Amino acid sequence: MPLKLAIVGRPNVGKSTLFNRLAGKKLAIVDDQPGVTRDRKFAAGRLGDLDLELIDTAGFENVSDESLEARMRAQTERAIEEADVALFVVDAREGVTHMDEVFAEVLRRHDRPVVLAANKAESRESGTGVMEAFRLGLGEPVAISAEHGEGMADLYAALLAVA
Ligand code: GDP
Ligand code: MG
Repeated sequence: MPLKLAIVGRPNVGKSTLFNRLAGKKLAIVDDQPGVTRDRKFAAGRLGDLDLELIDTAGFENVSDESLEARMRAQTERAIEEADVALFVVDAREGVTHMDEVFAEVLRRHDRPVVLAANKAESRESGTGVMEAFRLGLGEPVAISAEHGEGMADLYAALLAVA
């Protein structure tokens, strides 16, 4: 049975980059389900010996700020209800934002296990952002770089620990 992993977080933190990395080219069996789940993408994936069923949450870059927050909340709730584990991604370069706090609150209210990943951590300046992520109250952030494939062993260990 693959582990169902919902990748959640505000726009631009690198969710889709991570989704694509974990899916890999050969394993990606993307099921668009047109008209039904346009805000989510599904693919089979793998990390080490872990079989994954990935859910990428996407979109909303073009809607107004006001409806953005409510829609992202609702979408996140749907995605984590479908998943075994929520992988919450923040941007270590930008540090914690208000929108990250909103997501963290949604995630803390659910009883789904959460793994917190501080992405874009390939540069030295990202250290403060990784430390800031501790204050989201979701445990120890895993420093990763989805783009460069760094921190994947730590991510694997964190997933195993909660799955
Ligand atoms: P999403 O909106 O959360 O799905 O984010 P995307 O995956 O579309 O990525 C947003 C931007 O961040 C893109 O320009 C990516 O190339 C960039 N990005 C993603 N992962 C990393 C990373 O590990 N390091 C850096 N420096 N940039 C990244
Ligand atoms: Mg995306």
